Amino acid sequence: MTAPSLLWFRQDLRLADNPALMAAAAGPLLPVFVLDDQAAGGWAPGGAARWWLHHSLAALGAALAARGAPLFLLRGRAEILIPGLAQAIGAKEVFASRLYEPWARERDRRIAEALAADGRQLRLATSAVLMEPARFAAGSGKPYAVYTPFARALAATGDPPSPLPTPTVLAGLPQPPDGLALATLDLLPRRDWAAGFAAHWQPGEAGAAARLTGFLAGPIAAYGAARNTPGVAGTSGLSPHLHWGEMSPRSLWHAVRAALPQPGVLGPQSRAWPFLSELLWREFSYHLLWHHPSLPDAPLRPRFAEFPWAPKPALLRAWQRGRTGLPIVDAGLRELWQTGWMHNRVRMIAASLLVKHLLQPWQDGAAWFWDTLVDADLAANSASWQWVAGCGSDAAPYFRIFNPVLQGEKFDPAGDYVRRYVPELARLPAKWLHRPWEAPAAVLDAAGLRLGLDYPRPIVDLAEGRARALAAFATLGTPA
Ligand SMILES: Cc1cc2nc3c(=O)[nH]c(=O)nc-3n(C[C@H](O)[C@H](O)[C@H](O)COP(=O)(O)OP(=O)(O)OC[C@H]3O[C@@H](n4cnc5c(N)ncnc54)[C@H](O)[C@@H]3O)c2cc1C
Repeated sequence: MTAPSLLWFRQDLRLADNPALMAAAAGPLLPVFVLDDQAAGGWAPGGAARWWLHHSLAALGAALAARGAPLFLLRGRAEILIPGLAQAIGAKEVFASRLYEPWARERDRRIAEALAADGRQLRLATSAVLMEPARFAAGSGKPYAVYTPFARALAATGDPPSPLPTPTVLAGLPQPPDGLALATLDLLPRRDWAAGFAAHWQPGEAGAAARLTGFLAGPIAAYGAARNTPGVAGTSGLSPHLHWGEMSPRSLWHAVRAALPQPGVLGPQSRAWPFLSELLWREFSYHLLWHHPSLPDAPLRPRFAEFPWAPKPALLRAWQRGRTGLPIVDAGLRELWQTGWMHNRVRMIAASLLVKHLLQPWQDGAAWFWDTLVDADLAANSASWQWVAGCGSDAAPYFRIFNPVLQGEKFDPAGDYVRRYVPELARLPAKWLHRPWEAPAAVLDAAGLRLGLDYPRPIVDLAEGRARALAAFATLGTPA
């Protein structure tokens, strides 16, 4: 009889287009998930991501059980549990999708060693990215440092291979061991903070497929124009599904290519480019994380290590709670709290206010996002915060400082977004919505708004904050 194998699910919680699953499914298999917070250290999934993980594991468990191979759940050190389990069931091979987080790479290295010492093998498949960062380099042989050449070079390699099918039957072990019940992983928040998430999301592979179908049926056609308008559902909302691997990036790539068919080589003029180029930003983030494992903690531009941040807990707290007095920023932080997600344009505006006008360290903002985003992703979050802060490899110049009033007026002109998430401003006319502190008293009265009571005055004078940020930047010397 063929030896069984262990199929270790991590951030690939799907059956479709899962190379590790297909390899393991050649014989009998035991699918396992290990909640290993200790190995991840400070980068264990945050609160919102744990809510997602709970529901995603429930969906994956049901899909696997229906095919004959129930999911075995464990909690503890994967480094000990995985080799032990492989030995216990007599598995010669452990199959998994490759991870790119520095802590996970280190853990995989140690597990591969432990397995090899016992005559077993850890087999890692490419699954979370289109292209292995280790195998993709610029002409110089060095990793890419700038997005545009990276994206063009990757697109020039052509479409990725076609997705693999979903297995309909799996050969589970005749007597699988008893694992933990999902509830004992204790992933759901104690407070009912995430109660509203379920109205916005359906974690799991079926939810990912439904979200994609909806996106392809409508918003994709206008994506290039609508992707910056937070008041409309103009983007895919697939980021948490992609993070947890409920859909592979290449399945998404092919689905978008099929929805917007066009002969010829893919490039910036292609109809699919506006969307696929965002997927390539994700890819670029993974490229950066792989080649710069310090990305989550330290600025990629070394001189930013000397940046004179001015940490002030009260400012950070006001920002986290959506009480800055700057409507588009507050709407974004409240959208995040209520739904576990924030529109990309607003992420940029909110992050910029925190690191520039308020001079709070980007790592503090990244940590808040890590805890509250359902799509919290170490590669995308770290790379994006560094990009906004100006210390990333391909960053917006530090001196380009978003003005949240002008950004609000440009991208939320009628105020649909702000009215939805900051209801105390809902009755203000659009003219004053993004700058309520400038509204005449009669306008405020008519809108039933008492500034400083119902809604805060701005916590920073935008002109002063901008000047302070530029002065802080100037202390670093001339840009390289
Ligand atoms: C400060 C900041 C922090 C961020 N943190 C995260 C994070 O933790 N996790 C995360 O997935 N994205 C993060 N992003 C990127 C981006 O905001 C989200 O990916 C996007 O808003 C997700 O919405 P969507 O799925 O509707 O995107 P769509 O517009 O539909 O894009 C499709 C997919 O492309 C990828 N993508 C799009 N934009 C980016 C980008 N700028 N960088 C990397 N990938 C991108 C995502 O996987 C997304 O699902 C961050 C951006 C900023 C400015």
